[in-house]
Formats: sequence, C-alpha cells, structure tokens
Amino acid sequence: MTHTHAALAPNAVIGIVGGGQLGRMSAVAASRLGFKTHILTQDAHGPAAQVSSSVTLGAYDDPAALDAFAKAVDVVTFEFENISADALDRLSKYCPVRPSGHILRISQDRLAEKTFLASSGVPLAPWCAVTDRTTLHEAAQKLGLPLILKTTRNGYDGKGQRRVYTEAELDAAFEELAPHPLVAEGMVDFACELSVMVVRGTDGTTRCFDTVLNHHWHGILDLTLAPAPIADVTAHEAGRLAALIAEKFDLVGIMGVEMFLVRDGSLMVNEVAPRPHNSGHWTMDACAQDQFDMHIRAVAGLPLPPAQRHSDAVMKNLVGPEDMALWPAILANPGQIPHLYGKKEARPGRKMGHVNILFPYGSLPGEWGIQAALGPLATKCAAPPATDQD
Ligand code: AMP
Repeated sequence: MTHTHAALAPNAVIGIVGGGQLGRMSAVAASRLGFKTHILTQDAHGPAAQVSSSVTLGAYDDPAALDAFAKAVDVVTFEFENISADALDRLSKYCPVRPSGHILRISQDRLAEKTFLASSGVPLAPWCAVTDRTTLHEAAQKLGLPLILKTTRNGYDGKGQRRVYTEAELDAAFEELAPHPLVAEGMVDFACELSVMVVRGTDGTTRCFDTVLNHHWHGILDLTLAPAPIADVTAHEAGRLAALIAEKFDLVGIMGVEMFLVRDGSLMVNEVAPRPHNSGHWTMDACAQDQFDMHIRAVAGLPLPPAQRHSDAVMKNLVGPEDMALWPAILANPGQIPHLYGKKEARPGRKMGHVNILFPYGSLPGEWGIQAALGPLATKCAAPPATDQD
C-alpha cells in the first residue's frame, strides 16, 4: 500500500515522542533538512530536548499533553516504544503518525509480533504461547530444553526473560516472569547476531542499510561491525527479510530488524523495533545519509535515496562510568569519531554515547585489528560476547 500525503515543506515541525538519544539524533537530522522539532517528554533537559526548538512536558498517557503536543506539530514520530498505541491513535486524529500505531501495537507485544511475522512468511525461532502451567509444560515438550521464557511486553536489553535448563526450573521461571501470558522460545544455537535497518517512504520506496553484526555485553549492545563479515548471500537474505517485514507492516519510517544467523546458515528473526536503533549508529559516519536522515525523510514524505555505505565501520557503545572514564583517550584518538548524548549522570549500564571507527570500503579488519583500533575501549571484546543474561 502506498500513501499519498504531501511532503512536508522546510520549517515544518516534526513531533517526536520521547526525549532520549534516538530523539536527539533524529532532531539533529531533522534540523539538517530544515525542519523544526518538538519533543514530548517528561525531562525538560534530556538528550532530545537539548537540541529541539520546542518541548511539551507531560506524561505519555496524559490526554491534555498529547493534544497540546499534536496541535503544535505537522507529523508525529516516536523514538521509543513505551508509549501506548492508543496514545498514538489519539495523536493521529490531528496529524499523520509515522510509523503508525498499528505497527507499534504489534511490535510491543512479542506474541502479536511472532504471530504477525510467522503469517508473513518470516522465519523465527521455534516458539509457543504460554498462558498457564499446562501450556508451559506443553511448550517444554514441544521445544525441548533448554528454552527461554520471555515476557510479551516491556522486554529490552535482555530484561524480562529467563533461561530454563531443567524441567524443575520451569514453574519458578513462569512465576517470576509476569504479567502472563509469556512466550517460550527454543534456544537457538546461533553463530552470531545480525541486524538490518530498513526504511520505507510514503511512496512505498524501501531501502535497507547493509546487514551488520552485533556483539552484546551483559545484554546491552557493545559493538556493531558494518558490514557483517558473513557470506554475501546471507547478508542479502537478511535485507530481503527486513524489506519484506517493512512491506507487510506498511511501514513509513525506519525499523531495526534483529536476527540470528544459525550455525546451519539459516536466518531467524528475533524481534523488530519500529524506530531508529542502536545497531544503526554506524551509519552516522559511514553513509552519506544516516539512519536518522532516512527516518526523517520518510516521516516527512521526502524521497529516499539509496542507503549507501561509503566506508566500513565499527560502532562501540559508551556505557556507564567505565567507558566514560576513557573519554579523554577517545578525544585524543583521531580515528575515533565520538557522539555523546548529553546525559548528566553516567550510571552503570546507561548508554552515554558511542564511537564510530571507519575503515576504507571493503577493508573491515578481523578481531585483532578491531581491538587495536578500539585501543583502551577494547577491554570488553577481549572476552567472548555475553549473551546469557542469567
Ligand atoms: P531479546 O530480548 O529477545 O532481544 O533477547 C536478548 C538476547 O538474548 C538476544 O540478543 C540473544 O543474545 C539472546 N536470545 C534471545 N532469544 C534467544 C533464543 N531463542 N535463543 C538463543 N538466544 C536468544
């Protein structure tokens, strides 16, 4: 399906729900395209509010705040998924909301997301809905052990999930995770985790950035390698799946699609996020138009150029006080391109910024070369990437 809304003119106001770093980088991209931004947030001094022309302070479920915000903008997008789809529907009475509330409604709920993706022909890890003890034990029979139990809502950075290794642990894990229902997933023996940023315009034009490889550390993204050092055929298949999902959703805007590359060479989609995504931050320095530029173009109804990469890149997240202690070393290293989000306090586990390191196109080094380029930031990737959140 295509949409026929007119493109926004320069100086139009793009409303962004959410005041974090993704909103900040979206707002900066919007300003490059001559737009103003207006943030709906509860933090007047947060990362996005610092760089935007206007702010509505209010809760994301406060009807008065939602109405005031919507009346002040020409289009609405969101930078995080903790707003209700009903609130987006309310905003859509005033102006277009991109991506639309129906996509958020599905992506906020793992069960709805898996049902939707499966019916779209997207390969997934084996899964079952778990509503009670009976379906819990049936899931263990069907999927085998170990398995992963996940909450359907509010799971991010590995939160809201438990690995279950024995029959005896099943009931306790079920009780611990609430609210129910839950999703049970078979444990995938993956070679690595991949993601694709896909963006789709109001005219249906769909663009994918290159498939990248992600390393996590204690459930939080640590490193992204662009492009993923995998077979071309696999990288293309990942892009095909991301584009398929964007079309099935009738997406307008950008979406991150996270996948597992299974050891047999097949791909399984883990989850989707209909917003800019941490694993797309490498595009800020390795592409002429980055994920935020492309997202704002889509949201504003502008044409989408090809998502071309001019360099290979490694993106390293700066998380918590340990990484921020290296800030002077980062600034002293001309090969490291720093991006800070303007957060006041470097709490443990908090994403404070990221660094991009570029390599000439086609010359992404291997592990040791990457560690050398990271310098003092390399400490975490010396150990195997952590994927177990227990
Ligand atoms: P999620 O919250 O679904 O993104 O999961 C967080 C992390 O847990 C993923 O990035 C994987 O490293 C791991 N994980 C999630 N689901 C599975 C699975 N079915 N099999 C193996 N690892 C998984």
